[in-house]
Amino acid sequence: MSERVIPIITQPLANLAIPQASSSATWHHGQPLTDMLNRPLHDLRISVTDRCNFRCSYCMPKEVFDNNYQYLPQSSLLTFEEITRAATSFIALGVEKIRLTGGEPLLRKNLEILISQLAGLQTLNGKPLDLTLTTNGSLLARKAQTLKAAGLKRVTVSLDGLDDAVFKRMNDVDFPVSDVLEGIEAARLAGLGPIKVNMVVKRGTNEQEILPMARYFRGQGVALRFIEYMDVGATNGWRMNEVMPSAEVLALLQSEMSLIPLNPSQTGETAERWGYLNDQGEHDPSLGELGFISSVTKAFCSDCNRARLTTEGQLYLCLFATQGYDLKTLIRSHGSAENLTQSIANIWSQRSDRYSELRSSLPHDTTRELAGGTQRKVEMSYIGG
Ligand code: SAM
Ligand code: SF4
Ligand code: SF4
Repeated sequence: MSERVIPIITQPLANLAIPQASSSATWHHGQPLTDMLNRPLHDLRISVTDRCNFRCSYCMPKEVFDNNYQYLPQSSLLTFEEITRAATSFIALGVEKIRLTGGEPLLRKNLEILISQLAGLQTLNGKPLDLTLTTNGSLLARKAQTLKAAGLKRVTVSLDGLDDAVFKRMNDVDFPVSDVLEGIEAARLAGLGPIKVNMVVKRGTNEQEILPMARYFRGQGVALRFIEYMDVGATNGWRMNEVMPSAEVLALLQSEMSLIPLNPSQTGETAERWGYLNDQGEHDPSLGELGFISSVTKAFCSDCNRARLTTEGQLYLCLFATQGYDLKTLIRSHGSAENLTQSIANIWSQRSDRYSELRSSLPHDTTRELAGGTQRKVEMSYIGG
């Protein structure tokens, strides 16, 4: 196994100035909003905390996120009212899906209050919002019922293997698999489905868990998604040789299971979907499905319709961005909702990010320059996955 390399990069994350409406790309009320590459704004991911009770080596390695690590002070977090105000503006621009994330979102105190506020919002077409949450599952058994009652529609649970030793090594806090499985069961009983399970595959660490995970979840109506280990942030010591390409994961699964490719459920879907065939050779949706998120080997930037709002109210347009836009100051300046909406429209209409596509066109040793050279890339635990 290769040695972990943690680069020490100390520059603070910088803010970008909120652009004025440009003559080439101006949004008017009632018009569909698109960016410079003609991508609509459809999904909003909101990080509600930068803290986590796990120390997954690929996300918050213990060596960096130790007792001395400075998390955001309470005063700089967006309040629930501020998040809801921001969400209302994003919805006015076409957002139909909101995912709460983090850090570990279930660590945010009284999260159900935020959920009930967001659940009260409607899309531009008057439909209920697709309101979901990604969690490590550690607190789900305790909270699933309350989350459902508050208006959460469904959950995605991260789980990197079924073997306790492997999983504990990956979460690095000795957390057992059984408690996450209990959380998934509680979510199912509470009606927080269809449930997705995310497994980050790291070569040399947990690829032996791929088949056991698929065998376990086949028949449970769950979508099990394999995520390529990504070069997000600046602390996980990412190396290309630890990425297991989705094509290899799929071939391994096909050596044992009969699978059929499925159409994307919507534009901008991050996962390539596959279904299970039953004994008669027919697709059986009740068995669940598999998904492959190939952020490294198969860029999906051309359909990327996601914006990310950090815990402290910065707007990021790409997971690999080095800079964000300070929406918090705008929200706290008590300007009109109209002004906030127009500012977000100006930002989105001038967006041209496509990091993964550019990375795939370059040799791997030049991607550091692509991601801003020595500028610090934003951490996954800060921006939300
Ligand atoms: N704590 C929650 C969790 O783990 O589900 C939510 C936040 S976490 C940052 C969101 C997702 O990002 C998780 O599914 C996690 O596995 C994934 N993730 C984090 N770091 C990653 C990396 N380097 N490559 C690929 N996926 C990563
Ligand atoms: Fe925490 Fe999720 Fe990151 Fe793991 S992936 S350290 S659970 S935020
Ligand atoms: Fe979207 Fe950036 Fe990922 Fe491309 S690299 S899919 S633009 S988040």
